[in-house]
Amino acid sequence: MLPSEVHGANVLAALEPSYYPPSRSGLRGSHPGSNTHAHSRAFDKKSDWGPTTQLKEEYDLVVVGGGISGLSAAYFYQKQHGRDKKVLILDNHDDFGGHAKRNEHTMDGDTRIGYGGSQTLVNPHSAGKTVLNLLKDIGVDLDRFKTAYDVDFFKRNKLGAVTYFNKKTFGEDKVVKHPYCNYPNYVEGLQAAKLSNEEAAQQAPLSEKGKQQLLRVLKGGLHVLKVPKEELRKYISTHSYFDYLKNTLGVDDPGVLRMARYSAADWASGGTDLLRIGAAKGAGAMGFAPVAVYDEDHPYIHHFPDGNAGVARALVKKMIANVGKGNNAEEIVLSKFKYAELDKSSNRVRIRLNSTVVKVQHRGDADTSREVSVNYINDNKSYQVTGQGVVMACYNMMIPHIVPDLPKEQAAALRLQTKSPLQYTTVGLKNWRAMKEIGIGLAMCPGNMHQVVLMDFPVSMGGYEFTKTPNDPCIIQMISCPTGDTIGAPAVEQFSEARYRMLELKFKDYEQEIREHLSGMLPKRLFDFDRDVESITVNRWAHGYSYGGPGDSTRKGRQPFGRITIANCDSAASADALVAMKMAWRAVKELG
Ligand SMILES: Cc1cc2nc3c(=O)[nH]c(=O)nc-3n(C[C@H](O)[C@H](O)[C@H](O)COP(=O)(O)OP(=O)(O)OC[C@H]3O[C@@H](n4cnc5c(N)ncnc54)[C@H](O)[C@@H]3O)c2cc1C
Repeated sequence: MLPSEVHGANVLAALEPSYYPPSRSGLRGSHPGSNTHAHSRAFDKKSDWGPTTQLKEEYDLVVVGGGISGLSAAYFYQKQHGRDKKVLILDNHDDFGGHAKRNEHTMDGDTRIGYGGSQTLVNPHSAGKTVLNLLKDIGVDLDRFKTAYDVDFFKRNKLGAVTYFNKKTFGEDKVVKHPYCNYPNYVEGLQAAKLSNEEAAQQAPLSEKGKQQLLRVLKGGLHVLKVPKEELRKYISTHSYFDYLKNTLGVDDPGVLRMARYSAADWASGGTDLLRIGAAKGAGAMGFAPVAVYDEDHPYIHHFPDGNAGVARALVKKMIANVGKGNNAEEIVLSKFKYAELDKSSNRVRIRLNSTVVKVQHRGDADTSREVSVNYINDNKSYQVTGQGVVMACYNMMIPHIVPDLPKEQAAALRLQTKSPLQYTTVGLKNWRAMKEIGIGLAMCPGNMHQVVLMDFPVSMGGYEFTKTPNDPCIIQMISCPTGDTIGAPAVEQFSEARYRMLELKFKDYEQEIREHLSGMLPKRLFDFDRDVESITVNRWAHGYSYGGPGDSTRKGRQPFGRITIANCDSAASADALVAMKMAWRAVKELG
């Protein structure tokens, strides 16, 4: 169907002044409805979207995907070609930032700020000049985190790493003051376990045989492999962690294997059964004590109260000044952004939310064309805009479904790019007296859907104060890395199985799970779910960490195609915000 032409300004309803997605709770992340059109395109091959309105909007650049990579692409484009260049960013979600999502929980008028996905800038000083200049230009002062992150918080409050064994899986509800792994080591200031390996193994609610096996694992490590030193590096990068547990250490107790499988949580992108020995050790998996999951010379402190949403917001503020108050990333921490400003026709950069791109095509031949049409669906209506160039900063495996003319080999490579599912749930607690009572800074929870529960990172900045005393409200973070049922099944199969299972659940299922989890873990005397939990936000990322594809497919997939280039951290197979920025820079440069 041919598009009808309409001047853009009044076609799309402006967002209401009250539109403020960070305060929404319930099912968030890729919230219900956000992927409907993309899935219709990918799975049902839908191509007839009804009459298409051709908007009289012409852009120098259209960006598909408003995550950190897409926002950075818009920033770099203007930096390279001039601040007068017109850019449109389209995203299917009701908020910008992609995985970098801000969650707010308000309790008795006190708004607590947290993150629903991309969490911390990991080792930012090594990110390279282009990224460091971007961060500086948008007002991120990396040194500020040295004082903003209260490294004494956990010590002051005697909070450490523990393990919660639930009754359903382990026969009794029990908290042992030991994490049995090194996963918690990235939380700066978290207090170390005081129990010896022998005591910890003895206290685990396992059979006698299970306790002995657990102790063997805790005392294990690379030395038990008996591999010559010069061959060790190769050996641990080619041999499976689970084979090491089963064959070298003789572990077959289901409880111990379960503890091991979930002992690296989200550092593992799924269960540790998918990892080689070296990767498992690096991710903090059970049995290599004591190792730092994170290099101690580079502290894991570069965390805004809203995680990397703080970076996404600073990018938006840089490009759309009227969106909120504040002159740098710190000053906007408490700024309630005015979403109605995002898509004003007077902006040089416009961000259009709730807009799923379904087709991107050159007008004419890809080699010579200077124009690309971009079709998207907003409020079930189909629109078309034109850009002189397009950066695809969306999930890379979706690109072949949207760009129909891609060379076959490139399309095939893109289809192979995969992502692991992940879920970050934030819970607004009216007080944390119960967490304090048993000294929980972080709890490994191998029997639960959320395999990790932690106090939020203790960061105060921009007028925002981290929770001060156990009587004050706070946010606790619950992390779930869903896996397939079969230990050792191929990663892609496990991701797919886990993704669909995750999406089948309703909010009430999650609420029930969280109710049972917290009620079983925390002392009844001090915790009552109905009384103490104010709000729950379940951030489901069916397409979470970039996992890449086989062989050289990631590089083959990200090649420029005429006036269309490819960004997103998928294009480097690396789940990292700084990489997302680098990929944006590459994609903008490729456009010329
Ligand atoms: C739970 C979680 C925690 C993480 N923690 C960290 C961390 O601590 N540190 C770190 O560095 N990294 C972390 N990451 C990795 C994270 O992916 C990157 O940091 C970064 O946020 C990725 O940015 P991106 O722009 O590449 O992708 P995304 O954030 O995925 O943005 C892409 C956007 O494109 C949109 N899109 C897709 N298809 C379409 C379409 N057809 N039309 C319009 N829009 C579309 C997507 O919905 C999304 O909004 C985490 C990821 C997850 C899921």
